[in-house]
Amino acid sequence: MERSQTKKLIEEVVAELKNQDFLKMDITDKKERETVLNSAGEILKTTDKIIKSYIRVSREGGMIERIPAYRVQHNNISGFYKGGIRFSEEVSESEVENLAILMTLKNALHGLPFGGAKGGVHVNPRNYTERELNLISKKYVQRFALNLGPTQDIPAPDLGTNDKIIDWMVGEYKTINPGQAYTGSFTGKSVENNGATGRRESTGIGTFLSYIYLLNAWFLAKKENTSMEYKERSKQWNTLEKLYNKFKEADPIEVTVQGFGNVGSIAALEAYNCSEVKHRVTAVSDQFVTLINKEGLNIEKLVAYTNKHKRLPQTSQQLKEANLEAEINKPQDILTLHTDVLIFAAIEDQVTKENMKDIKADVLVEGANAPVSVEADLFLQEKGKIIVPDILANAGGVHVSYLEWKQSRVTESYSKDEILQEMSSQMKETLKKVFNEYFTTREHTMRFTCYSIALRRLITLLHRHGKLF
Ligand code: GLU
Repeated sequence: MERSQTKKLIEEVVAELKNQDFLKMDITDKKERETVLNSAGEILKTTDKIIKSYIRVSREGGMIERIPAYRVQHNNISGFYKGGIRFSEEVSESEVENLAILMTLKNALHGLPFGGAKGGVHVNPRNYTERELNLISKKYVQRFALNLGPTQDIPAPDLGTNDKIIDWMVGEYKTINPGQAYTGSFTGKSVENNGATGRRESTGIGTFLSYIYLLNAWFLAKKENTSMEYKERSKQWNTLEKLYNKFKEADPIEVTVQGFGNVGSIAALEAYNCSEVKHRVTAVSDQFVTLINKEGLNIEKLVAYTNKHKRLPQTSQQLKEANLEAEINKPQDILTLHTDVLIFAAIEDQVTKENMKDIKADVLVEGANAPVSVEADLFLQEKGKIIVPDILANAGGVHVSYLEWKQSRVTESYSKDEILQEMSSQMKETLKKVFNEYFTTREHTMRFTCYSIALRRLITLLHRHGKLF
């Protein structure tokens, strides 16, 4: 979502809360409640701390490069700052700040005991050697160590980073802070280094599950004939019914996935292997190519290929080598294909007013952060489409991060089954909550509903902590 729009949406939700009974138990006077809500809005639209530093790295050629790096701590009213670190050429202060705000909202929406933060380094990791990446990771920790820690700010992987980078960071954190607890200082570590089994797959699995649980919530509501005001959402209701009918007829639900990294490849694999509901993954993309096969792509083979080559096959020769059949198209083509479900698992700002009219998918699932602008969100909702927003759909990663952090605090270790079970049931709970509220309120997008649930929790805490006088 375009950066300033997150703050604008916070403002709109706070304005709406003024008309509701929210906080009435704590504050009976309407005027006073309004003043309190205004202060809360101001606090949550602004950021606690933005730290910018420069990392100097000696390149293989001998030259020294100076790279901007950030850690943004947005808000910690609901717990220690928490959020990933990304390595990407798109990284800027405003991008990282927006992502930090989304972390605060995501953690609050899912009831996790964390606040929101994000980090970023302005590099394209593909252009750096292993030694250079190791240096960048260690220097990042040196620059920000004073502000990090298991009860202060707990980073994790994000776009362009992984468990290997996090392991290096933990190593550096331990060197800087000898004798102190360090295992809970980062999450997303490798399993051998006190990481949680299943953390790597968790965002992709959670993203796929978010839409399955939505379908599930619809089915339950239909079965129980709940007295909800469905007519306000009749188009969305029909969209879910259409998908459900496909399931009933054992007609495969078509899925397309933008991005084939950690999130996209796993979400595609979940769809491909889903035994309860039949799916057909008809297109996937990465930054170089879109591969289409209306009969369904073999995702297992594609995952094996990308594990080896770090990108999807791009030529017919490469497809042949991988023993795959697909039509080769441009990367952006993935967005406008006919499909039932489109999963975003790449970067921000993919659907905006420029291309929103061309989107044909019925359900859009935001595995990536901020792929759909607010304007496009409203437009697509008007058309009857369902957009499962980022803070709802891609929380699988931070759910498992919480378990990883918790396991380091209690010196225990959960099995993969326990972890994925816990993550799934938490995701299901939140999806149900959002579904019920979304289908009983007027005119709002599902993103608005999610922000409203998250902000009510944050504002209640701000008030109870006495921060709003
Ligand atoms: N980077 C992931 C996200 O955007 C995970 C954050 C975490 O685990 O702290 O949600």
